[in-house]
Amino acid sequence: MTDPTPRFWEIFFAVYEALPRQGPGSRACTARALGLCSGLPPDPAILDLGCGVGGQTLHLAELTAGSIVAIDSHAPSIARLTATLAERGLASRIQAIVGDMANPKQPPGSFDLVWSEGALYNIGIAKALRIGHDLLRPGGYLAFTDAVWRTENPPPAVRASFEDYPTMGRADDVIATIQASELELIDHFTLPDAAWWDDFYTPMEQRIDALHRTYAQDAEALAILEQMAEEPAMHRRSSQHYAYEFFVTRRP
Ligand code: SAM
Repeated sequence: MTDPTPRFWEIFFAVYEALPRQGPGSRACTARALGLCSGLPPDPAILDLGCGVGGQTLHLAELTAGSIVAIDSHAPSIARLTATLAERGLASRIQAIVGDMANPKQPPGSFDLVWSEGALYNIGIAKALRIGHDLLRPGGYLAFTDAVWRTENPPPAVRASFEDYPTMGRADDVIATIQASELELIDHFTLPDAAWWDDFYTPMEQRIDALHRTYAQDAEALAILEQMAEEPAMHRRSSQHYAYEFFVTRRP
């Protein structure tokens, strides 16, 4: 596939930045994964890698009394999260920073909890586990979600839709990567279908509809919106082939 054009990215971000989350996830799943992190202090020091506009960051702020450093490389998402934090009076507990999770520039061994929903694949899970391990204090947790295949031979069109995830494997492959790392696997679970729809695909389809009206006279924008609408449509047809899995790991 040819590289996306600047116009594609303009429309892509006009859709994505308006969503509560930029990937599958839900407050219930964040709470369930957090519940697996036994022995955390009530006010943990949390690092949220690839936070997007902060869907899970805000849930972590509700579910703990901790302080959170939230990092994303996409400056407009951090600007949106920063505005949300100011509106909600959370700026003293949560710091939103533009940065690279491959080099988060945070003190080693300083976090009780490193969190990442739908983002670690950008740098590869094995590398992310090393980075997470080094940022955690002993006994601290790294919790993350990752896309995984559920069937042996997904149809080519479904495979193609995950071309941004070149190393995507089965949940067992991620578990093997964890077992080869310095972290120990505590537990894992599959995100339910509601976690794809409630904060992600349903608002995405609504946003695409709204932008259809905005761009009614703009054939290029409409074609890009049609292309984007294919993702939730494919999920309706083919979600049996793939899933998002939550993994909770711990630094011994
Ligand atoms: N965690 C958010 C959520 O679930 O709503 C966002 C998930 S989105 C699928 C992946 C995020 O990772 C994007 O916001 C993207 O900008 C960010 N990202 C990609 N590569 C990154 C990097 N090297 N460092 C920091 N953030 C990165």
